[in-house]
Amino acid sequence: MAQYNQVTPEIIEQLKVAANGHVYVGEDINEDYMRDEMPIYGKKMPDVLIQPLTTEEVSAVMKICNDNLIPVTPRGAGTGLVGASVAVLGGVMLDTQKMNKILEYDYENMVVRVQPGVLLNDLAEDCVRQGLLYPPDPGEKFACLGGNVSTNAGGMRAVKYGATRDYVRAMKVVLANGEVVDFGAQVSKTSTGYSLINLMVGAEGTLGVITELTLKIIPAPKAVVSLIIPFEDLETAISTVPKIKMAQLDPQALEFMEREIILSSERFIGRETFPKSLDGQEIGAYLLVTFDGKDEEELNNVVEQACELVLEAGAIDVLVADTSTKIKDAWAARSSFLEAIESETKLLDECDVVVPINKIAEFLTFAKEFGAECGLEIKSFGHAGDGNLHIYQCSNDLEEEEFKRRVDKYFNVLYKRATEIGGLVSGEHGIGRGKMKYLRECLGETSINLMFGIKKVFDPNLILNPGKVCYPIEGVD
Ligand SMILES: Cc1cc2nc3c(=O)[nH]c(=O)nc-3n(C[C@H](O)[C@H](O)[C@H](O)COP(=O)(O)OP(=O)(O)OC[C@H]3O[C@@H](n4cnc5c(N)ncnc54)[C@H](O)[C@@H]3O)c2cc1C
Repeated sequence: MAQYNQVTPEIIEQLKVAANGHVYVGEDINEDYMRDEMPIYGKKMPDVLIQPLTTEEVSAVMKICNDNLIPVTPRGAGTGLVGASVAVLGGVMLDTQKMNKILEYDYENMVVRVQPGVLLNDLAEDCVRQGLLYPPDPGEKFACLGGNVSTNAGGMRAVKYGATRDYVRAMKVVLANGEVVDFGAQVSKTSTGYSLINLMVGAEGTLGVITELTLKIIPAPKAVVSLIIPFEDLETAISTVPKIKMAQLDPQALEFMEREIILSSERFIGRETFPKSLDGQEIGAYLLVTFDGKDEEELNNVVEQACELVLEAGAIDVLVADTSTKIKDAWAARSSFLEAIESETKLLDECDVVVPINKIAEFLTFAKEFGAECGLEIKSFGHAGDGNLHIYQCSNDLEEEEFKRRVDKYFNVLYKRATEIGGLVSGEHGIGRGKMKYLRECLGETSINLMFGIKKVFDPNLILNPGKVCYPIEGVD
């Protein structure tokens, strides 16, 4: 492990000058900063919290921390699910939430320039007001765009439009030594040497601090419709997914969910939208699909084809949500899955795995059977269109140590199986602190050594977000 120093009162004074006073210590730091949304991966308060407003402030702070070997944890809204924004060694936390301005739209090049602390929700709404769409749509709308980029967040619309990475055109980055660099440009293609901008996407704050982003936007589709498609069981639901894709219906979103999770979610939001039985037939699973198009006629055509196809594939019925209120209602239950599980569960962990889409059903069956063998309750949902599954391990009875032991056993087997069938250990939530061991097992030593080599080039003193992704710290991992 690299050598680090404690933050002294003298260093705090220097940091106050560097960040124009936006510096907090001790009891002035809110307890929320000790954890992200998955506290099972550990809690630790930073020694100092800094809320910079400008790139210059971030640069001055980084220079002090680098010169004094102080660990720095960049942070957005702290909604991550792998412990990536927890300051495992204390030190300085750089909270970017106050850098929250939408700076400029460039309508000719179809890009928008933003600060990293802008909330996804704020950009999405601002775009909609102008007839535009920022396509990435991860479930948590109150995450920051800097966090979205740093985890390459995916979300519902990735099946048609791709993940966050596909919308990052340029960025301003403060390196570990305080130097400010620009990566990328306002261009739609490039073959200009190694793609440093793509190294930053998904780097989880381990390579640099993003202080500005230029993001691609597109014209909003003119017509949108969602379908709730009930099936008797999950296998039939999942086996319909490749058929939808083969028919080139090009859904904007294509999610699967099981009956149990819908019941939890509807209990949580206090409203029922999904049918539980139809014509005496019990419903075991659903697909929730959204299509978009350039006009009503085009869309009606697609919906007609989709209805025919899914009914032939074994769907019990198709419920059409064709107004914005109905679409919102259809997605309300889906958007609350995690909070619904949290509200009913004492101990929780999550496997965010991605597998080839033709292996989803087989993998989920295995996940459930092995969960039962390990004495864990399993709840699952996911992005059926891209094979990204969220498999939750839940317990209300076990002691925390025993729960962790069983989850570790479960993860070892599950991630190994995912790798064997051609999958990877994270589809969209990242590695952070929670998935380091499984990353190593999935990718092997050579890839991890290459990653660590890249880390050392960007951050020779290893001060940026230590103990995450490819740089383990003994005793805290
Ligand atoms: C209810 C719920 C639903 C979710 N649904 C999805 C989903 O559908 N898809 C999905 O992909 N994720 C989802 N997530 C996970 C989470 O919202 C995303 O990982 C999100 O991108 C994190 O953004 P954040 O601002 O909260 O970042 P944080 O949690 O604060 O940080 C995440 C990582 O980014 C780094 N970071 C943050 N800002 C910067 C910066 N400016 N420069 C450098 N590094 C930085 C941090 O160091 C950390 O490593 C969900 C989470 C919740 C709670």
